[in-house]
Amino acid sequence: MSPRRAIPSIDRLLERPALVAAIIRHGREAVTDATRRAADAWRAGASAAPDETSDRIGAWIEARAAAELDARIAPSLRAVINATGVVIHTNLGRAPLAAEAIAHVGRIAAGYTNLEYDLDAGARGRRQIHGERLLCRLTGAEAALVVNNNAAAALVTLAALAAGREVIVSRGELVEIGGGFRVPDILAQSGATLREVGTTNRTRSADYAAAISDRTALILRVHPSNFRIEGFTERPDLADLAAIAHRFHLPLVEDLGSGWIGLEPPLPSLAHESSVVDSLQAGSDIVTFSGDKLLGGPQTGIVVGRRDLVSAIGRHPLVRAVRADKLAYAALEATLALWAKSPSRGAIPVFDMLTAPVAVVAARAARLIDYLKGGAALTCRLERGASTPGGGSAPEAAIPTALVTVTTPHHSAAALHERLRQATPPVVARISDDHVVLDLRTVRDADVEALALAVRSAAAARSED
Ligand SMILES: *Cc1c(COP(=O)(O)O)cnc(C)c1O
Repeated sequence: MSPRRAIPSIDRLLERPALVAAIIRHGREAVTDATRRAADAWRAGASAAPDETSDRIGAWIEARAAAELDARIAPSLRAVINATGVVIHTNLGRAPLAAEAIAHVGRIAAGYTNLEYDLDAGARGRRQIHGERLLCRLTGAEAALVVNNNAAAALVTLAALAAGREVIVSRGELVEIGGGFRVPDILAQSGATLREVGTTNRTRSADYAAAISDRTALILRVHPSNFRIEGFTERPDLADLAAIAHRFHLPLVEDLGSGWIGLEPPLPSLAHESSVVDSLQAGSDIVTFSGDKLLGGPQTGIVVGRRDLVSAIGRHPLVRAVRADKLAYAALEATLALWAKSPSRGAIPVFDMLTAPVAVVAARAARLIDYLKGGAALTCRLERGASTPGGGSAPEAAIPTALVTVTTPHHSAAALHERLRQATPPVVARISDDHVVLDLRTVRDADVEALALAVRSAAAARSED
């Protein structure tokens, strides 16, 4: 029998189990169309063997049509393995959440909550109270407010405290953080006027003092985040800046971005990172930072500081437009509770990745190499290197780490990297000296085996696909 004739009819094909199930999910018309396309593909030679039985052809068409239909409703947002060694990787969704945070999100997401309901009064309550007690306890601030992200925190702070007046900023801090967050643009959107002082590399206390007038609303300090100017530089101590601001009864606001809480003793990798606690102690009246950078929580923007100022910010109408949702509050409160006790901090993935000794990372790398042994033609080597905290934290900070470099005769480093990105789950790595480099500091123990499988299939020759 010629293969052409061996194709079952569309009606017969639609009786196959996967397509019957697909009709329930996608409707008869869509499944019929997909089945026709799969049958056409078979006729066009998409499957090689010429003397297939009718049943095997039917199975091939069934699988192909079902896969096409499933791909249509597959989520675009997927879990990936971060083998870059950048702990807070904005493109990869920043902080993975702690198991405790995920569990609390699960409980809150599944039912009703007291999000805006005061259980004592039996009446409408305020969303803004959530997270505040824990944030104040951790940072020593009088008051706190949580919004959607730190860009929003900076925007509402400036809108509430400085619209229609001037904000003094050093020219050395008029930075773009990335993702389109530019300090001058946020200032313009808030309705405040930028008053630049100093130069790109040097700004002195006297420059700030000379710029203060009756139009001044506040002094803004911005964490330089993702870059550092080396050499002939100067900027006043935060405490000096606070003294100037307070002499003129102006608030000092710091946009700290990375949100390092500040611990005693400090972490070696973050010894030079300015912390929220330091900033408040040095005299900042308001500090804003992200919840999903070094805090290791959900995407949120956090405002902490003086009670009267936080209240004024909380009353600004823009806050309604950038409010945090209940899932973010749930994840944030659970993460903050872990920070509150030093033995539980290791349960915060970001903290764990920042502090894991290199020997722990090397053991993980050795496990990966074990899994890779004896597989496809593949050379891998264990090497030492450096991970980075990322996320706008100290750009020069480096954490010693263990790397696995992978090479294969079948693919160039760039091609292997691309095939890794197409794997399931996708793997994002980096390329250095013409090798694909996997940094195990940012790979969870539970993902090592999946990573090995992805590397093996990506490294295989094309015909073995
Ligand atoms: C990251 C960062 C921001 C932006 O914070 P998002 O939470 O991404 O909105 C703003 N300012 C500084 C200094 C930052 O580092």
